[in-house]
Amino acid sequence: MSNTLENTLEQDLEKAFETCIHCGICLSSCPTYVHTGDESQSPRGRIHLSQAVHDGRLPFADLVPALETCLGCMACESACPSQVKYHHVLEAGRLTAHAQGLGRFSVLAQSMQAVLKQDALLSIVTTAMKLGDALGFRRLLQASWMPALIREKTRFWMPLPQERLDVRLTQVDNHAELALHLGCVMKHLMPDVHNACLDVLTAMGFSVTASPLGCCGALASHHGLAKETQACLKENAQAWQASSKTITLSNAGGCGAMLKDYAHLGENLSLQASPSVLAEIAHATEDIHAFIWANNPRLPALALPTQMVVTYQGSCHLTHAQGVTEAPLALLQQVENLTLVPMQNASGCCGSAGIYNLEHPQLAEAIAQEKVDAILATGADVVVVGNPGCLIQLKASLAVYAPTAKIEVLHPIQLLAEAVKACPAQYQSAEQPS
Ligand code: SF4
Ligand code: SF4
Repeated sequence: MSNTLENTLEQDLEKAFETCIHCGICLSSCPTYVHTGDESQSPRGRIHLSQAVHDGRLPFADLVPALETCLGCMACESACPSQVKYHHVLEAGRLTAHAQGLGRFSVLAQSMQAVLKQDALLSIVTTAMKLGDALGFRRLLQASWMPALIREKTRFWMPLPQERLDVRLTQVDNHAELALHLGCVMKHLMPDVHNACLDVLTAMGFSVTASPLGCCGALASHHGLAKETQACLKENAQAWQASSKTITLSNAGGCGAMLKDYAHLGENLSLQASPSVLAEIAHATEDIHAFIWANNPRLPALALPTQMVVTYQGSCHLTHAQGVTEAPLALLQQVENLTLVPMQNASGCCGSAGIYNLEHPQLAEAIAQEKVDAILATGADVVVVGNPGCLIQLKASLAVYAPTAKIEVLHPIQLLAEAVKACPAQYQSAEQPS
């Protein structure tokens, strides 16, 4: 690590150590502590261990297991009365672990990150998955007579939407008012979510284009992969400078949080991209729910064609990292024929957390089972969540732990789009803005 990076991490760490008053209020909101009862698996424990390493009382290797099991969900930051920036502790620890070759899952994360940067490869994988689905391979692998291990390992292979990305989102139009960040994996796996966002924003009278920004680098950053994170920052900074620098809307809680953190990351990882350009990206990024809610008067009347009971799961990075809590609920509440029912611990992690379910399957499963129980207890027909990883995790968890429940998992904006389309006159006029 460079001296610049070490110095900024040092400042972040010292600030966190100073502000933590060891009150323990964060413990009950931490999924890893709740499921293990182990103080070293809690935010307070991880901060305490990090301080011991910092003060030379503990070898760094002893801290690594505690950091690796952290979901990075940031529920502890929302709960903390002292406003401790726990993510700075996690970030410094994971960067150091990778730099010292101690990151147990670094190779897996590096491989995944390399795939995420390959748009053509993602397209081939997605097409192969759709073909495999059409030919019945997915159903075969997940059939009840298959060994449990195979069913378990293939449960994240979901039926993919046949819908294609709307042509208006396949290129960058520098005259548009808004740019939608399509991301890497979401562009291929969930074009239906992007199209729904386009439908709603268009119905509000906005002109929308695809953002020139690519993979945000969240997976690399969360695993302390400095080089890979820097590469994403650098590419996005170059794309940004060549664009019209318009408001960038994110419909993915994790990507939005990452893009908004570019200013801070730019200070820490400014080796290959201009910090001021990264700060511009951060300031131009807005969560789509918050943006639509702020422009609520432009929304047409919303009514679902049939009655629906809906519950909301707050994605960790939307809720805790971005602080967007009210807007998704407020938007859903104004849809006619939609009954919103609260879920217990709706802002608690679902166990997705990037590739956490591959790294720590047992803990991820325990967290997922608890989430499924909470969803079932609401009696809802639909659960909505604003992050692609959570959408996949909830679909897979419901398929495994409640296979007969028939609960649909959607992005909140997909429901809004359905409600907009239920009024054909206003939808048709919105498709052809004057
Ligand atoms: S992180 Fe915050 S809530 Fe947790 S022990 Fe420290 S001060 Fe208390
Ligand atoms: S980020 Fe989540 S898992 Fe990690 S310490 Fe905080 S609450 Fe616990």
